Amino acid sequence: METDLICPKCRAPLSASAHVYTCPAGHSYDRSKEGYVNLLLNAKRGTHGDNREMILARRDFLDSGYYGALAEALAEAVSCRLGAHAHLLDAGCGEGYYTAACDSRLANAQILGIDLSKEALKLACKRLPNAAFAVGSLYDLPVADESQDALVCLFAPLASEEFHRVLKPNGLFVMAVPGVRHLFGLKQVLYDSPYENPQKDSALEGFALEEERAVDTRATLTSPRDIAALFAMTPYYYRTPAEGRARLAALDTLQTEISFRLLIYRRV
Ligand SMILES: [Zn+2]
Repeated sequence: METDLICPKCRAPLSASAHVYTCPAGHSYDRSKEGYVNLLLNAKRGTHGDNREMILARRDFLDSGYYGALAEALAEAVSCRLGAHAHLLDAGCGEGYYTAACDSRLANAQILGIDLSKEALKLACKRLPNAAFAVGSLYDLPVADESQDALVCLFAPLASEEFHRVLKPNGLFVMAVPGVRHLFGLKQVLYDSPYENPQKDSALEGFALEEERAVDTRATLTSPRDIAALFAMTPYYYRTPAEGRARLAALDTLQTEISFRLLIYRRV
């Protein structure tokens, strides 16, 4: 079966069979027992991307629906713009939460997810057995030029030159950025004088902004595990002083704003 994936050694198209992906030059890549294929060359031994514990915590947090409004807005933005049989790439798909949201609203789409983390992809394969998943770098996507009708990138690095390369002309690109008040309730616990998030400029070279949509909700986290999982998903995790961490660890519930801007572009 033909795929949108390319050989990381010679960049020729990869064909898929039940257990292996091969290129015309004879390079081959085994499918893992979970179903993903590793197309990252020269990978150092050890874990790439996030560790398993963090990935499971994040999956459980997302499955609790705290970011459900964002997933719904994303799925709506994608499904109202794509016809049947669309090719959609989730760049930095992680455990496939947003990939699945897109898939649920698309008819007969060819869904592809790429991530650095094998552990995350194992979970993604379970979530979406009919999608294709590959280990790869967003900065060197193992994906054919101009092969995708849509590309979504939720909280993964913005490799906009590669995204531009793999999208068809006028292809859809959707990403999300934090809103001004995103997680303010969390920041009020962590910091003595929390700041609002800066409003980033949405201009992106090679892309034209088609629509910007605010997704604003509030959430009440009702367990220390969910609170810890949310904290670990944020950049504050790495830079919060000990007193702030201790205040958060003492909480059983947390109320906070959940606020995103969904940015919808066309590749030009
Ligand atoms: Zn090859």
